[in-house]
Amino acid sequence: MDCAGGAGSAHRPVIDVLVVGGGPAGAAAAWSLARSGRCPLIVERSASQTEPVCGQFLGPDAVHSLARMGLYPADLGAVPITRLMLAHRHARAAMDLPFTGWSLPRRTMDAALLDCAGAAGAQIRRGVSVRSADRDNDGWRIRLDDDTWVQARDLVVASGKHALRGFARRPGGSVGLKLHLRLSCPLDATVLLPGRGFYAGLQPGPDGLANLCAAFRSGPPGDVAGFIAKVAQASDLGAQLLDGAVSVQPRPTAIAGVPYGWMFGGRSQAFRIGDQFAVVPSFCGDGVAMALAGGLLLGEAAGSGPDAFHRTLRARLAKPMRWAAPAGALFAHTPGLVVRTAALIPPLARLLAAQARVVPA
Ligand SMILES: Cc1cc2nc3c(=O)[nH]c(=O)nc-3n(C[C@H](O)[C@H](O)[C@H](O)COP(=O)(O)OP(=O)(O)OC[C@H]3O[C@@H](n4cnc5c(N)ncnc54)[C@H](O)[C@@H]3O)c2cc1C
Repeated sequence: MDCAGGAGSAHRPVIDVLVVGGGPAGAAAAWSLARSGRCPLIVERSASQTEPVCGQFLGPDAVHSLARMGLYPADLGAVPITRLMLAHRHARAAMDLPFTGWSLPRRTMDAALLDCAGAAGAQIRRGVSVRSADRDNDGWRIRLDDDTWVQARDLVVASGKHALRGFARRPGGSVGLKLHLRLSCPLDATVLLPGRGFYAGLQPGPDGLANLCAAFRSGPPGDVAGFIAKVAQASDLGAQLLDGAVSVQPRPTAIAGVPYGWMFGGRSQAFRIGDQFAVVPSFCGDGVAMALAGGLLLGEAAGSGPDAFHRTLRARLAKPMRWAAPAGALFAHTPGLVVRTAALIPPLARLLAAQARVVPA
């Protein structure tokens, strides 16, 4: 396809595929669409790369998709993770992971993914938000927040954790918090720290910065001290690891309305991917792996139309959703039982960690 330009007017240029959002899903989609001969335009609302709320843990399924795009965590400075610890009150469990995971700040990964999409031929517009997208004849009439309009033949909704008018997800949900910290003691494992009404993950990252990330069912603490104290109070291990920790941010990054366990089940004339298609409970499955898998599938399957694409994606993501959803619920409601069971039967936790992965295409 010739990507030089569409037949629209100067007021409303026609583009082939508009991708709303340049996170992992949108970047992977634009990369795979460009490689399959389409002409995608990513519209990303942040003017420069940000650090979204995310535990920044990558399992082998995410690594597999990144490798398809020519990206390797070690080359991006990611820290390998081979051990998992869980703690609640006085109980704790420790085990080897059944694979090597990686800790990679999202700022680094998302920038690399967008570079990849650009190198494959996708256009990228940053610092502009899609305000609305409505059907118009055979395509889409899209309004941007700089009050310009574009016309697109196909629309990919990859706005992730952020709602786009007309593309509903289940309302309500958890609140995510994230903080980069300098710990006063070394950490060489991913540590899951569930507490009353929340669960948190703490893991080492590049440049000696640990990432503390948590999902709260309600009433999240609003400041750094409150966040650290809340997690520290829930377990002896958390208190030990967070003692003397210093935040490198003035306040935690936050995101509300995360509908864990939700998967899109309706019909749509737009392609939905990433967190706009399914939201896996954090720390039990990898949302990034699912976002990349959906984006990469689009290049192969967009031709069959949105409904067929969504059916294929639903089947691909069924396994991680099936395993992660009950695990997330157990974490949230019976954290002590989960940690004691993991301590007594480590293979159970290892089995869960392995099963909650997206099956490679
Ligand atoms: C607490 C928590 C911990 C997590 N931990 C992990 C983890 O350890 N590992 C893991 O794999 N996953 C984790 N996840 C899940 C992961 O963050 C998401 O699944 C993943 O980011 C989804 O990617 P995405 O591209 O769909 O959306 P996003 O990463 O949210 O990207 C969407 C992009 O769209 C842009 N955008 C939004 N609206 C518009 C608009 N109207 N116009 C233009 N641009 C727009 C945004 O700026 C953003 O860049 C976690 C999530 C939470 C809440």
